[in-house]
Amino acid sequence: MKSLHVLFKPKHSPAKISSPATDRRIPAETHFISLIHASGDIATLRRVHAHVLRRGLLSSRIVSQLISCSSLLRSPEYSISIFRHFDDKNLFVFNALIRGLSENSRYECSVRHFILMLRLGVRPDRLTFPFVLRSNANLGFLRLGLALHGAMMKNGVDFDSFVRVSLVDMYVKIEKLGLALKVFDQSPNRIKNGNVLIWNVLINGYCQAGDLQKAVILFESMPERNLVSWRTLIKGYMGSGESVRARELFEQMPEKDVVSWTTLINGFSQNGDHDIAISMFFRMLDEDINPNEYTIAAVLSACSKAGALGSGGRIHGYLSNNGFKLDGAIGTALVDMYAKCGEVDTAGRVFGDMKHKDIRSWTAMIQGWAIHGRFEESIQCFRKMMYSGEKPDEVLFLAVLTACLNSGEVDLGLNFFHSMRLDYSIEPMMKHYLVVIDMLGRAGELNKALKFIKNMPIDPDFKIWATLYRACRAHKNVKMAEMVYQNLLELDPKHPGSCIFLCNVYAAEGKWQEVERTRTLMEKTVRETYQEGSYTELDGLVHKFSAGDYSHKLAKEIHLKLEEIVFLARQKGYSPGTGWSVHNIEEEEKESVTGSHSEKLALAFGLIRTDPGMAIRIVKNFRICGDCHSLMKYASKISQRDIIVRDARQFHRFKDGICSCRDYW
Ligand code: ZN
Ligand code: ZN
Repeated sequence: MKSLHVLFKPKHSPAKISSPATDRRIPAETHFISLIHASGDIATLRRVHAHVLRRGLLSSRIVSQLISCSSLLRSPEYSISIFRHFDDKNLFVFNALIRGLSENSRYECSVRHFILMLRLGVRPDRLTFPFVLRSNANLGFLRLGLALHGAMMKNGVDFDSFVRVSLVDMYVKIEKLGLALKVFDQSPNRIKNGNVLIWNVLINGYCQAGDLQKAVILFESMPERNLVSWRTLIKGYMGSGESVRARELFEQMPEKDVVSWTTLINGFSQNGDHDIAISMFFRMLDEDINPNEYTIAAVLSACSKAGALGSGGRIHGYLSNNGFKLDGAIGTALVDMYAKCGEVDTAGRVFGDMKHKDIRSWTAMIQGWAIHGRFEESIQCFRKMMYSGEKPDEVLFLAVLTACLNSGEVDLGLNFFHSMRLDYSIEPMMKHYLVVIDMLGRAGELNKALKFIKNMPIDPDFKIWATLYRACRAHKNVKMAEMVYQNLLELDPKHPGSCIFLCNVYAAEGKWQEVERTRTLMEKTVRETYQEGSYTELDGLVHKFSAGDYSHKLAKEIHLKLEEIVFLARQKGYSPGTGWSVHNIEEEEKESVTGSHSEKLALAFGLIRTDPGMAIRIVKNFRICGDCHSLMKYASKISQRDIIVRDARQFHRFKDGICSCRDYW
């Protein structure tokens, strides 16, 4: 086959362009089709298209190839224009277009062309339906779905097993499991071997609907299972928080491939069991299974969530020794891991070595500097990104705003916020508003914050008011606090924060029984809804603690040690912050009602199990509360150790009784 260069030589050597005609062995059509397939970008494809037109070779075969190729190159607009300018709109051309549009997420357009196809009297076949069904699965229209089902029957393709799987999948996705099951039951081929796909699709449907019982029944009655069947059910269990069952199933798998391991690791991490996720990863390596990019991203994310610097570093070493490119998703995951494990300078070095940086890599780095309060670096990173030509998105702006928030740069923060809409046409979301309110609140600009909330184009949610409430409390503005209370109560009377407010009201009125009742209710909701936890890594093993946790094998020693710390701290002036637990209303602090906080347990554990002088690193999934923050300061002085706590928002480095955040958080 002649290479592309032959065709696209500059105009002064026209002799070469006519090569296919001179080379009689290859018919011109085949030659051009191979050129279409070889087009690596849309500009090349356009040039091939132009040559085809000039030579009058436009056939439905070439047109359908052009459409498929431009769809592959993510240019559905170009596909549509090719289609429009071709008169002989037959089955092949329609199939290529409907498929291409569906694969480019242009679902509505794909369905519209299917309708056009019927209107023009072109009969759809077994290759048309899977894609139009897929489009409707994403659109979620029941009536259209039923109409498509009818059209399948009319065109005699409804018993084609390929089409049937798509039909079941569509019913599953539009949440009509009853219909999906009906189609499944009426599929005569379902019990034959080699027809696993339709079972997997239905099992997935039941898992997603949370009906694991039915999923298990189906799984157990399958005539034959493949890897996907196992993985689907494992994922289903993980999605319902049943990680123990998921693991049992995993252990029963006759063979475990890398994707199954990744499903398991991801699942554990999503359920907050980062420690198990990490240990499973190392077990996988021991069993000689090579991880892929997704496995690496999943385990590194578990490391960063658990602050497992040791394990993260070990994985970094493994990647370097095994020829992984520290770029793209893997590089970004490493940057994120180092930044969140407290080693932001190492993160900076990994980032600097990355050859290809995408918007996610930049965001991870800016966010990394931001959570460490390294304002200069994060802004510099932002500037470099702008020079590189990358366009910021809403997540990136969130990182930049966080940088401003953590360093008290209010004016600059507001500038960035306004620039989102004005310069980049990005509509700010609740999260962005939240950071701005927090920023104004911390700076004591309460009136400005209130005005800002009142001017929000979206309705402020509970978190927004809670943030303002916290600012009112910090700056002792009782009057505004009362007004904010009312808003909180109206928004969510059952929220733990509202409950605390209610407790205060009852307490003020001396209704102690009511106080008790509300408190019990609140503790129950908190325990059911929020899994708070802290992690600390020791000798490569991650230990997890939850509030009031007695499950650790050293529980007794840990609690004794904690009592000792509190006793010593009290002598130095620490007073356990009862005031905090009554006034806690932020979402991040609501676990306070459930007893001794997990970060305190992690601290006690660290003090018992590490050598004197060693730093103690703790990661907490919510924000540290005022009481724990205060105790950490005393503990760092008493034990003469550095205590590094990463909470949901930033790093706190406690040293000799002082925190790096200067109590500004
Ligand atoms: Zn606490
Ligand atoms: Zn602090």
